[in-house]
Amino acid sequence: MNWSFRTRISFLLIALVLIPSIVLGTLGYWTSSDVIRKETIRSVGMVANNKKELLVFRLHRQKERAVEFLDSIVSTCMQAGTVNQLCAQRLLASFMETDSILDADIIFPGVISLHRGPHADTLRNHPPFISQQLAQFSSHSANKLTYIVEAKGHTQGSLISLRYNIQKIEEIFTAPLELGATGETFLVDAQGFFLTKSRFPSHQGHSHPIDARPMIACLSHHDSEMLAGDYRPEPVIHGFRFVPEIGGGCIMAHIQQKEAFLPLKNLRSKIFLSALAFAILAVSLSFWIADRFAAQFTRPLTKLVERMKAAQAGDLDSPVFMGGPKEIALLGRGFSDLASQLKQSIELRDDFVAIVSHDLKNPLALLSLNASLMEKNLGQLGDEAKLSLMPKIESMRRHLARMNEMVCSVLDLTAIRSGNFKLLREPFNVNALIAEIMDTFRPLMAEKGIVFKDEVTTHEIVASLDRGRTLQVLSNLLGNALKFTPSGGEVTLQVVEKEKEIQFLVRDSGPGIPPEELERIFERFHRLKRERDFSSGLGLYIAKEFVRAHGGKIWVESEVGMGSRFYFTLPL
Ligand code: ADP
Repeated sequence: MNWSFRTRISFLLIALVLIPSIVLGTLGYWTSSDVIRKETIRSVGMVANNKKELLVFRLHRQKERAVEFLDSIVSTCMQAGTVNQLCAQRLLASFMETDSILDADIIFPGVISLHRGPHADTLRNHPPFISQQLAQFSSHSANKLTYIVEAKGHTQGSLISLRYNIQKIEEIFTAPLELGATGETFLVDAQGFFLTKSRFPSHQGHSHPIDARPMIACLSHHDSEMLAGDYRPEPVIHGFRFVPEIGGGCIMAHIQQKEAFLPLKNLRSKIFLSALAFAILAVSLSFWIADRFAAQFTRPLTKLVERMKAAQAGDLDSPVFMGGPKEIALLGRGFSDLASQLKQSIELRDDFVAIVSHDLKNPLALLSLNASLMEKNLGQLGDEAKLSLMPKIESMRRHLARMNEMVCSVLDLTAIRSGNFKLLREPFNVNALIAEIMDTFRPLMAEKGIVFKDEVTTHEIVASLDRGRTLQVLSNLLGNALKFTPSGGEVTLQVVEKEKEIQFLVRDSGPGIPPEELERIFERFHRLKRERDFSSGLGLYIAKEFVRAHGGKIWVESEVGMGSRFYFTLPL
């Protein structure tokens, strides 16, 4: 692709900055999102863990309170090995009230046995506590879930059993959650039945409804976290902890994956926006840097190209200013040297051509003179010799005239190129000039069978121009018309006086000129590639220079097959 230097550098810089950034950014995002994902899942397990610690702490505290209470009975109501019944009952009533205890049963073996509460008599019938167990759950009366805490006192054999409403620990699980809108924690017993309320009442029941894997894992004494389904259609993160302190059971915590991973989604959009901002910045900076960098190369190169074009057009004198990097400065210097060498050789060539052309003029004139003398003396020869020599002398004269024309063209060219060419302006009668040139060309046109006409204004035009050069331009145009118009064709010379100028037109019915050649035809040595066209390509160039020197214009209108119209104007 033909991209500019600046564009190439811009894209290179963009690629250099953006590709590593995209790769590193993507890797960074993958790694961090993986860590965040794992940490989020782990945090759900940590919530279950916290709940377990809170539950165990509360049960421990209740057990300690029970022991403290037994001790307070001993210290307050015991005298001489017996316990004052009234005193103990009063203490128990106040303890049950302050600690919201439903039923209580106290026994100091052989000393006193107390129970209080509507179902206190059933307290001694509960199954025995196993090791580590702090509480035992029982749905004592219909829909009323309670739990029993049991403790041994410091006095030998003393035992206290207390029954609490489930609400006492339920708040641990139903309190405002750190698990968000879709999360919850709850407690289940060793069979997986709900002990505390679910946050989503429609799904509350006595068994866990959907994916049982987390529950099964937990009830098999595993503490962990995992991704699984739930009663909501979306994937859910589960954290669970086995609780031996309630005689077997589990604390379950879960949250919808979508909500749990929301920070990750936010992070993704933040990363995307930052990446976009970074990309815009990188692209703009790349273009800016490329612009500045490329300017160091392109500016001097553009100047060099301009100089080359000027040199092509003939200006080999203007100096080449070369700033920029060393290599480009070297290139400029190289071009300068080349231009001055070229100028020297052109000067040498022009000098040589001028000398040779000048020196050719005299022998040519001599040869022409001799040819004329020979033609004159032909009459003294016999008819046979006359007939045989006549065409040869004529051909000689034609070729000599052509040679003379060429030498004159070369001399004109040298004069124009060296700047030595000057106009000799003097007032003259344009009508007379036209008549003269018509007289010159009429026999030649007639000889070729071309109809030659003039369209010249009847009133007299007097102009202050270089008469010789004007004649030369007209001769060149008419000479070309004569050369290229076929026999039976038509050539017209028109002269129109306009407001401030005279316009000359040479119209022919020749082969015409292709459109792409119309401008170039006036260039030095430019010739059309045509059969039997032996032009030097100098005539129109010299004509253009003469017209230009007068301050006029020259141009051509033509169509292939429709003839040509050469115009030139000269200011009056
Ligand atoms: P020269 O001085 O050798 O005659 P010119 O500069 O006058 O050359 O002409 C340049 C080219 O223009 C020639 O090669 C010729 O083909 C073309 N040309 C000039 N005049 C005409 C014309 N009237 N019709 C067609 N072609 C022309």
